[in-house]
Amino acid sequence: KIVMGIESSCDETAVALVTDDRQVLAQRIASQDDEHRPFGGVVPEIAARAHADRLAPMVRAVLDDAGLTLDAVDAIAATAGPGLIGGVMVGLVTGKALAMASGKPLLAVNHLEGHALSPRLADASLAYPYLLLLVSGGHCQLLKVTGVGQYTRLGTTIDDALGEAFDKTAKILGLGYPGGPAVERLAAQGNPKAVPLPRPLLGTAEPHFSFAGLKSAVLRAHEAGVHAPADIAAGFQQAAIDCVIDRTRRALAAAGEVGALVVAGGVAANKAVRAALEDLAAAHGLRFVAPPLALCTDNAAMIAWAGCEKLAAGHAPDPLDVAARPRWPLDPAAEAVRGAGV
Ligand code: ATP
Ligand code: MG
Ligand code: FE
Repeated sequence: KIVMGIESSCDETAVALVTDDRQVLAQRIASQDDEHRPFGGVVPEIAARAHADRLAPMVRAVLDDAGLTLDAVDAIAATAGPGLIGGVMVGLVTGKALAMASGKPLLAVNHLEGHALSPRLADASLAYPYLLLLVSGGHCQLLKVTGVGQYTRLGTTIDDALGEAFDKTAKILGLGYPGGPAVERLAAQGNPKAVPLPRPLLGTAEPHFSFAGLKSAVLRAHEAGVHAPADIAAGFQQAAIDCVIDRTRRALAAAGEVGALVVAGGVAANKAVRAALEDLAAAHGLRFVAPPLALCTDNAAMIAWAGCEKLAAGHAPDPLDVAARPRWPLDPAAEAVRGAGV
């Protein structure tokens, strides 16, 4: 089976063709960094317009790259949320139009499910259940993944996402946009112990996260004017990693039987974060799985793959009036019990 994936939930426009035996037949991705850089962050209206301009020609190009027509595609998987609603609507409506014109089924994919299952696209031997650390621009969660659509949230952030903390640190240090990779590069040149920074929620019982206090401390350290930016970046990254490892250790204790520790989402591209998680997994005698960097940040191959997993699990196609959703938790029960914050 061949699934076309469409991604447009933030500032990456992406289309991919993926087979159910894990071949990425073709994929294209266009970042909008240049459009958003002057504003220091993603401007929703600009993002939606850029997706609208680029998506149709990109669908054409990806089919041409693979030497296929829509006839050869078995299903259209489009991100239906969560994300910036204007962009999500552009991608979902494009998917609906393609599904309608071709008569192929439409699969409305949760963007977070795309991230959550992306390690299984990269690694055929990764079986359920696994403990997933999902660390992206908008989310920071620990989930037990038991199957397609079966997610138990063990922890989440009570304020900022980890990627957001990286981006804000980059902004404070004047490293520009997008921030995560820039902070990682600068941190590599600094001393992580030179600037004392807090580790919010370290040692607390439930594996939740908090990064707002760390961000404020980074701002104060910067404004003090006595620390080298590289030392602040290194101190921030180490504090964040210490929190992530402590919280993930707690989640491993709470998760019950899992076959692997898995990381996904944009921050999973960070080599220091990956290395620390790999050590933690080894200490627990667990496999560690992290997708290749290009599968960590937003892409359409992970959306197509989530579509493949849904087909394999026998999920029904979605109706052509399926709604785009700005919010769409992977574990609605946990969200309802704990409320919006935690
Ligand atoms: P979400 O998936 O929650 O809707 P998103 O799609 O914007 O949010 P992703 O594309 O998955 O998020 O990840 C982007 C985030 O990852 C940004 O915050 C970015 O700074 C961060 N990031 C990317 N590369 C790195 C890196 N090398 N080190 C740290 N953070 C990084
Ligand atoms: Mg982006
Ligand atoms: Fe994402």
